[in-house]
Amino acid sequence: AAEEGFDIEDVEGAIEAAGHGPLPVLAVVGRPNVGKSTLVNRIIGRREAVVEDKPGVTRDRVTYEAEWAGRRFKVVDTGGWEQDVLGIDASVAAQAEYAIEAADAVVFVVDAKVGATDTDEAVVRLLRKAGKPVVLCANKVDGPSGEADAAYLWNLGLGEPHPVSALHGRGTGDMLDAVLEALPEAPAQSFGTAIGGPRRIALIGRPNVGKSSLLNKVAGEERVVVNELAGTTRDPVDELIELGGVTWKFVDTAGIRKRVHLQQGADYYASLRTAAAVEKAEVAVILIDAAENISVQDQRIVTMAVEAGRAVVLAFNKWDTLDEERRYYLEREIETELGQVAWAPRVNVSARTGRHMEKLVPAIETALAGWETRVPTGRLNAFLGELVSAHPHPVRGGKQPRILFGTQAGTKPPRFVLFASGFIEAGYRRFIERRLREEFGFEGTPIHISVRVRE
Ligand code: GDP
Ligand code: GDP
Repeated sequence: AAEEGFDIEDVEGAIEAAGHGPLPVLAVVGRPNVGKSTLVNRIIGRREAVVEDKPGVTRDRVTYEAEWAGRRFKVVDTGGWEQDVLGIDASVAAQAEYAIEAADAVVFVVDAKVGATDTDEAVVRLLRKAGKPVVLCANKVDGPSGEADAAYLWNLGLGEPHPVSALHGRGTGDMLDAVLEALPEAPAQSFGTAIGGPRRIALIGRPNVGKSSLLNKVAGEERVVVNELAGTTRDPVDELIELGGVTWKFVDTAGIRKRVHLQQGADYYASLRTAAAVEKAEVAVILIDAAENISVQDQRIVTMAVEAGRAVVLAFNKWDTLDEERRYYLEREIETELGQVAWAPRVNVSARTGRHMEKLVPAIETALAGWETRVPTGRLNAFLGELVSAHPHPVRGGKQPRILFGTQAGTKPPRFVLFASGFIEAGYRRFIERRLREEFGFEGTPIHISVRVRE
């Protein structure tokens, strides 16, 4: 590294920064209007408004990456969903329930000016049951005079209330220090404890693509479709199912089975549920209704899984209903609409007839293998050396930036750091990704490539 002009500490730092596995998850929960979205904006350090002024406006995005004091984590914002037909308590409880389930730690936001309400108490009960570490945020303490309001919240029995003004930033640093103490280094509930345990699958897809039908089929039993409100009962949300002689854990099957009839906020609710399931899983099996046009909603779900860095399998369901013409157009659509996951293994199934169910497990295994692939540094650099000499970066401004060396900093998904002598253009980065995939496989997994440029 030194002879290439890189400081050894820079190199090590870059590798460490890129090398993290799945990040721990922080959920921010609380009643509407207590300031959850404002706080999330603060935590992720973004100026652009996540806060919407219009109530009931739905957002697709519910998870964000954040960093505090050099540690990275994910934040799940539950602020995008207003009161709906369920009534306020059930609404808040339902969204909190999913977020808490997927989280390693929770920030519970209370409006200190208002004090604890019955709805807040309902969330406290959920938090107790979940047993996850909680940081109590007494928000809207904009100045010293509000501190007394915050102190009242000791009554909630969740420990020290942290007086914060999400709007002005007051107290957020201290609160984030407490968050880091509460948050494990790695997402313990979903990864650390499960080594050697069953692999975790999230079966996701937009409503009516056939998720519960598929689950029933693979589990080999007719399940009861529970027509009840989410959040009113706490049945086990993960289910162990044996497939191909191996036991798998299907995460958040309660979310699949429950039918919650929502008017407002249904999209957001579904997004939150999907995001939570994806966070808990290692591999996402994304179900798509092959009989219908691939929709923006399908693409959003794909993006969610890819951005979360999960292994991905695409399952095109309802294959029994397809005629030849639809099959033809589907292929074209897959090329144009699902190009971002051209690397994902694909199965064409029918939850109704059972067609190709036996291909599901091999596809999942392929994707997990890709997700865990590690390329030895020697092999990677031999490959990079050949690639760079056969296909050099285009000359720019009289200079030719070169990839000097690289290393795989992490897996799950594979993360690479490349060290270069100058700025590497996006097109060349994509070319490198393509060639890496051709050479080493990585079927079914997103890969991350970061480039460090010599000063
Ligand atoms: P959410 O529904 O819990 O996500 O709440 P929002 O983040 O949308 O905030 C609701 C309202 O409270 C907005 O008008 C915010 O500007 C306001 N708000 C949020 N945090 C603070 C704060 O620390 N102090 C004050 N005074 N207002 C706040
Ligand atoms: P979910 O909302 O994704 O859980 O979807 P469901 O499993 O409830 O299925 C929605 C509808 O699609 C139901 O009427 C199912 O019977 C139907 N369906 C599911 N899978 C198939 C399939 O493979 N073929 C056909 N023809 N219909 C299916």
